[in-house]
Amino acid sequence: MGHEDAHSNPAPPPQPAGPTDFVRDLIAADRLSGKHDGRVITRFPPEPNGYLHIGHAKSICLNFGIAQENPDGVCHLRFDDTNPAREDVEYVNSIQEDVRWLGFNWADKMFYASDYFEKLYHYALHLIRNGKAYVCDLSPEEMIEYRGAPTIPGRESPFRNRSVEENLDLFHRMRAGEFADGSHTLRANIDMTSPNIHLRDPALYRIRKVDHHRTGAAWCLYPMYDYAHSVSDAIEGITHSICTLEFEVHRPLYDWILNQLPIPHHPQQIEFARLNLSYTLLSKRKLLQLVEEGVVSGWDDPRMPTIAGLRRRGYTPESIRAFCSRIGVTKFNGLTDISLLEFSVREDLNKTAPRVMAVLRPIRVVIENFPEGEVEELDAINNPEDPAAGVRKLPFSRVLYIEAEDFLENPPKGFFRLTPGGEVRLRYAYIIRCVGLVKDPASGQVQELRCTLDPNTHSGTGHVQRKVKGTIHWVSEAHAVDAEVRLYDRLFHVETPGDAEGDWKTLLNPHSLQTLTGCKLEPSLAGAKPGARYQFERQGYFCANSSDAKPGKLVFNRTVTLRDSWAKSASQKSK
Ligand code: ATP
Ligand code: MG
Repeated sequence: MGHEDAHSNPAPPPQPAGPTDFVRDLIAADRLSGKHDGRVITRFPPEPNGYLHIGHAKSICLNFGIAQENPDGVCHLRFDDTNPAREDVEYVNSIQEDVRWLGFNWADKMFYASDYFEKLYHYALHLIRNGKAYVCDLSPEEMIEYRGAPTIPGRESPFRNRSVEENLDLFHRMRAGEFADGSHTLRANIDMTSPNIHLRDPALYRIRKVDHHRTGAAWCLYPMYDYAHSVSDAIEGITHSICTLEFEVHRPLYDWILNQLPIPHHPQQIEFARLNLSYTLLSKRKLLQLVEEGVVSGWDDPRMPTIAGLRRRGYTPESIRAFCSRIGVTKFNGLTDISLLEFSVREDLNKTAPRVMAVLRPIRVVIENFPEGEVEELDAINNPEDPAAGVRKLPFSRVLYIEAEDFLENPPKGFFRLTPGGEVRLRYAYIIRCVGLVKDPASGQVQELRCTLDPNTHSGTGHVQRKVKGTIHWVSEAHAVDAEVRLYDRLFHVETPGDAEGDWKTLLNPHSLQTLTGCKLEPSLAGAKPGARYQFERQGYFCANSSDAKPGKLVFNRTVTLRDSWAKSASQKSK
């Protein structure tokens, strides 16, 4: 802050001309060679156990993006709802809202893994009949112990050689609810000595006597992720099953399962690097903890990295898509700087957000040579980046508010704003000179500035007759509307809160929310619609709060400052 030309932004980092990456290249090659009959069907498979976050946005932009770019391409939205204990319809609904808000459309291709429970069960019977799966009575602890470690071969379960008949009987009884949670599993019969732990007879089904948000009490037997996921992909005819790198070691199991089953379709699993973002946690489990413990106001708290939080913060879908395209898709896990996300929203809002004047920490200014009761309507430019946005009228009168920090009684060298006896330009208006101070007799604090204006310096939106170094924003007292303004900052003060050992909540930034009341806004903001986005001149981008503002009370959320204040403070520290 403090410079008059805070409107300009630094040059953007390079953006690829058209999105291309190894996933898209591979799919293009498959189309050329006629693999999967030249079709492209992808899917986005969230588990409805939390709200979507910016990491999911990367996957959404990739999967839905590829479908859009290919003729006849389709992307399914599939709820991977196989773990009833943690799932909820609230999440199912929020996920649909967020995908749509991001600008993507699944048409009629919305599915639930739970729709396939019966089919999955029958394919499991097929595995049992072919000697490829067995019912195991080892407890979860014993299973871990038998599994070995990467360098220690596992031991075979004593139940591995049960007859097909016995396995079919036990599996039926598992479904019928005869056994307790954890007492039996259905396991794939693969290889307990495989160097890949995931092939050491992994569990395919477990007993969980928990109601499901869609199937109710119909099942007490639920498929494990690897089994449900691969079979769901194949049932839906997915051609390219794109997932994050952690699943690379699961791919042999994905392929093994589909090789055993009589489903004609065998999707190709492709892995890419997940998004890790600095100063941000992207673990649904930990984000849920922040919500449940009231550290934040909800999944859509503007400090949350969720799509709902970013939306309330003022992010646009365009800016999130631009961010995803800018970070690209690779095979290498890395850490993306959150300033790139902030850059993307600045760049978008710079083009689209109307400029307005808002004084966040006001101090009163009386213009002694401007008549009481008179109002002058000044022209102000709505958006210098967008001439079509036009001009608006701004009332000017004898008593104004300016930003308290734009006045210093004892200024350091190089301070070009208002000082005793000094001059400054009021944006779109006059040059004023400070001719006196009114102080609180008790505290000595400056309460009011007495100024005079130079009538020959009216600038409007055009010609400037005389120059001074500083230009500041202001609002007419009689016309101002009051608002609460919430200044948000990063939720964590360390770069990689996800790597922390021990209590990660000690890493929360105690200054992530600062609430200012009694802010004074120009009158055009009186009717700001929830969700409307503005540039408060010299302050940053702000969004009218859409959630907990009471009728008649204006609340604005700061989306982002005009410049990267963290980069500035870091470079100042290093000096
Ligand atoms: P969990 O499985 O622990 O609940 P998750 O983040 O994997 O959490 P899912 O609902 O399974 O959540 O994710 C849906 C899809 O989004 C998956 O295909 C997953 O690979 C992808 N995804 C999740 N997190 C990221 C991330 N940080 N970057 C890119 N893609 C992600
Ligand atoms: Mg997952």
